[in-house]
Amino acid sequence: MLYFALLILFWSIIIFTLWLWKHTLLKKTWHEPYLSDFALIIESDDWGVGEAYHLERLSGINTLFQRYSDHVKRPAVLTANMVLSLPDTISMQQNCFNQFERKTLSKNFITLLNGFKHCISQGTFIPQIHGIEHYYAPGLLQLAQQNDPRVTPFFNQPDWTDWEALDSPLQGHYVNGTQLPTEPVSKQQQQLQYEHAQQEFFNCFNFNSKSIVAPCYLWDNTSETVWAEHEQTIQYIQTAGYRCNGRDQNGHYHQDIRLIRSGDKTEHGALYLVRNAMYEPADGRKAQDCIKQIIKAFRQGEAATISTHRYNYTRSEEIFNDSIKGLETLLFFVTGHYGKRLRFLSSPELGQWLENPEQAMFCDAQKKEWPALQSLGGLGLLNAFLWRLWYRHQKLRLLSIVTALVIPWGILLLADKLLNSRNPSL
Ligand SMILES: [Zn+2]
Repeated sequence: MLYFALLILFWSIIIFTLWLWKHTLLKKTWHEPYLSDFALIIESDDWGVGEAYHLERLSGINTLFQRYSDHVKRPAVLTANMVLSLPDTISMQQNCFNQFERKTLSKNFITLLNGFKHCISQGTFIPQIHGIEHYYAPGLLQLAQQNDPRVTPFFNQPDWTDWEALDSPLQGHYVNGTQLPTEPVSKQQQQLQYEHAQQEFFNCFNFNSKSIVAPCYLWDNTSETVWAEHEQTIQYIQTAGYRCNGRDQNGHYHQDIRLIRSGDKTEHGALYLVRNAMYEPADGRKAQDCIKQIIKAFRQGEAATISTHRYNYTRSEEIFNDSIKGLETLLFFVTGHYGKRLRFLSSPELGQWLENPEQAMFCDAQKKEWPALQSLGGLGLLNAFLWRLWYRHQKLRLLSIVTALVIPWGILLLADKLLNSRNPSL
């Protein structure tokens, strides 16, 4: 009994010392948003303009998503980041590359657009802006005028849809990657890019996008100013947990904001969102790794936001089949283990919850309201808070092991498991 009392005293001293040492961090972490629902977002970049066969691939995703739904009977849904135009190479050849001309999703890819709209009506596809295009058009035009071999094979084609074949630095949109290090793009130019993107997005889907993810995760403070000052304000910015404003001489990305948490605000008041899981099977990032990342997010009371690019589904038939199979593995897992509290949603809806946790969420694409997500409280909140400390801070993790604080935490986890129906059977 005496030993037990001494142990309690020892742990109390450790926790008190920890509070003196890290109280700012502890308070900040405690006051972050925590979800009781298991919210799953599947984000997919680069949809939009492309080849006709993309429609079949999209249809495969739609069929799969219809088969899996959450506890409010909503099917799995893709938050699709849209690329809205391609170069009109014939017009540009005719004007001797004096002016950049576009083929747009709303005018030149109507069958594809109708496919996207069909999936919206089925509840499996929510578009948001990626960019009017996936490159810096004035830079590409300049290279075409100079007969630069990085672009001439493309611009000499009558019909060029494969922008993903461009050199990686050329795929940035809000920075100029025609040479390394990249150069910032002027505010005036970014205003034009954003204006064109919102206009074309509205032409396609009849609503304005309140959320965005910058091509190649390359954007800067000027971009955020443009998005904030425009009449159609961006409220939510999807990130990978940092902001990159350029690439150096060797092509390495430069982070000017190194750590972003979901719910952090830009200096203009927009909310950052953070992707925390990857399912990119074409690059070897398979379903089992993604499942581990989903479990990690849910333990911490975070939404799990998966990144899965279009190319996983639009390359060869074999890659597509493999990607769909893995996607089904993911959906089978989350519906099987978290079904009673699982919520499928899109990124702007998560943004809405972060802004107003009590309110129902409105989906602009579907013109439909979905019930508010539930926030976490009680023992579940304490454990999710401790999981965040555990995963984020190596020193605290080591301290809890060395001082055996993991023992009382294990008891808390067990109590939570017994008392709380939220916990899945993992
Ligand atoms: Zn992209």
